Amino acid sequence: MPEKGITKILIPEQEIQTIVKSLGREITRHYRKNGGELLVVGLLKGSFVFMADLIRSIEYPLMVDFLAVSSYTDATVSSGEVTIKMDIGESIQGKSILLVEDIVDTGYTFQKVIRLLEKRQPASLKTCAFLSKPSRREVDVPIDFFGRDIPDEFVCGYGLDYAQKYRNLPYIGVLGAVGSGKPLRVATHE
Ligand code: 5GP
Repeated sequence: MPEKGITKILIPEQEIQTIVKSLGREITRHYRKNGGELLVVGLLKGSFVFMADLIRSIEYPLMVDFLAVSSYTDATVSSGEVTIKMDIGESIQGKSILLVEDIVDTGYTFQKVIRLLEKRQPASLKTCAFLSKPSRREVDVPIDFFGRDIPDEFVCGYGLDYAQKYRNLPYIGVLGAVGSGKPLRVATHE
C-alpha cells in the first residue's frame, strides 16, 4: 500500500535498483577509460538517497562531497537564481567531478550549478540525474548519465520530498494533491 497522499507508485523499489546499477556500470566504464581523481558531488538534500546507492554501484576509486543550493524559479524571476547554502568542503581544481542531482525539471538549478563549478577549473565535469522531466525543460542542460524520464507529475520518495516529508519512501510515487508541482516552484531546492 502506498503512503497516504501518494496516488500512484511510478517507479517501484526494484526498478530503482535496476536503474541505479545500470548507471553505476556506465559511470564505471567511463572513468576506467578516462581516468582521473573522481569526486562525486551530490546536490542536497534530494540526491542523498540516490547518491548512497549510486556510489556503491561505481567500481572506481572515488571521494564524496555535497553542495546545497537554493533555487528561485518563480515565474517572476525568469532566469532563475541559485545561491549556495553549503559549499563543497574542498577544492575541485584538477579533479574529475561527477555532479549528482535527484531530478532535473526546468534545468535552471543544474545550469547554474554547472556554470559555478566550471569556474573552479575541474579536470572534467560530468553530470548525473536520476530523473528528468523533459516536458518541463526551459534551458538545455547536459545530462551525461541519467536514469529515467518521467511525465510532468510531482513525485516524492527515494530522497525527494514534499514539505520535507516522504524522503524515506523506498519508491518514487506521485503525490496526488500537488498536481504538476507548482507549489514548489518558488524559492526551493531541497
Ligand atoms: P529545476 O531547477 O530543474 O527546475 O529544479 C530542480 C529541483 O526542483 C529538483 O532538484 C527538486 O528539488 C525540485 N523538483 C522538481 N520537480 C520535482 C518533483 O517532481 N518532486 C520533488 N520532490 N522535487 C522536484
